[in-house]
This record gives sequence, structure tokens and C-alpha cells, in this order.
Amino acid sequence: MEIDEKAMESDKDALTLQDQTHQQYMRAALEMAEQALASDEVPVGCVLVNHGQIIGKGMNDTNRSLNGTRHAEFLAINSILSKHPPSIFSETDLYVTVEPCIMCASALRQFQIRAVYFGCSNDRFGGTGGVLSIHSDPGVDKPHPVYGGLFREEAIMLLRRFYVQENEKAPEPKPKKDRQLNTEVLPLSR
Ligand SMILES: [Zn+2]
Repeated sequence: MEIDEKAMESDKDALTLQDQTHQQYMRAALEMAEQALASDEVPVGCVLVNHGQIIGKGMNDTNRSLNGTRHAEFLAINSILSKHPPSIFSETDLYVTVEPCIMCASALRQFQIRAVYFGCSNDRFGGTGGVLSIHSDPGVDKPHPVYGGLFREEAIMLLRRFYVQENEKAPEPKPKKDRQLNTEVLPLSR
């Protein structure tokens, strides 16, 4: 698990993440993820912040809609596009509880998002360092910085609560020992 570390561009940026402003926005993203969990969606939430204002929010909505593209980021982007020109994204930051997937990372770069802050990395589908690095690969659109690890444990615990909850509803639940909530989150290897 050195992905988060790679995403942390320097020690200075890691320190900046302790900033209360960043924490406040990530808490708002975590609240959206809680709402997703309460709606039986994979708990991922995000907010988009422009000049200190939350101008868009999103939570995962793929199960209810049966539409695999309705990720939190897409919902937040759509809510903004209904009120603002796309140029607003170049002065807008994304706070999302889980690293954006490859699809969302590509959309975020095309909209020229200013920066992305995420909680835990996405080892299977991550588009900002987890699997691919869409935000920084050579390309037509301007690259953007990405900072991972902000409230990482909270983001991981939300996902674990979801998978325990899902298994409890399964027709043949796994044995109880396999579905206890694991509360240990290993630190990133240094
Ligand atoms: Zn996505």
C-alpha cells in the first residue's frame, strides 16, 4: 500500500492536509458517503468546492439507478453543469472519500478540475495512482495535483460497513467469523 504515499506529492502537502479547511470539506464528503451507505449504495461521497463554497455534492447511485456510471463524482459534476459553465471546474477542487475510478478521473481531467483530495486509494479501479494515473499522464488536458490519505481510515471503515451489511442480506451469508467488522486499518508502509 504505497499508493497513497505516491499520491502525496511531498511532506509539505501532507502537512497541508491537516488544514482544518480540507478536513471540513472531507467531512462533508464523508456525510455524503454515509447517506450512500444508508441507501444501500457503495459508500462513496464527494463535494466540489469553489472559492470556499461547496457548489456540488454527490453520492454513489449505481444500485438504485441500475446505471454503473452514476458515481458520486458524476452526480456532483452534473449538478454543477446545470447552473454553471464548464469553465468553473478550473477553479474548483474535488473532495472524495475514495480515489476516483478511471472513468471519473478521465472526466475530471477533461473538465480541468483544479485539484483532487481523496480519502482511501482504490486498488482495483483507481484512476489517480491506484491503477492508472490519468491525472498526470501525458495528454491534451492540463494535469492536476492529487492528494490522498485525508480521513483515509474513515473512508475504509465506511466501505467495510457496507460489505458486512451486504453479506448479512445475502441468501447464503458467509459464516459469522468472516463477516465481523474488521476495525483495524493498517498504517501506510513508509
Ligand atoms: Zn468513478
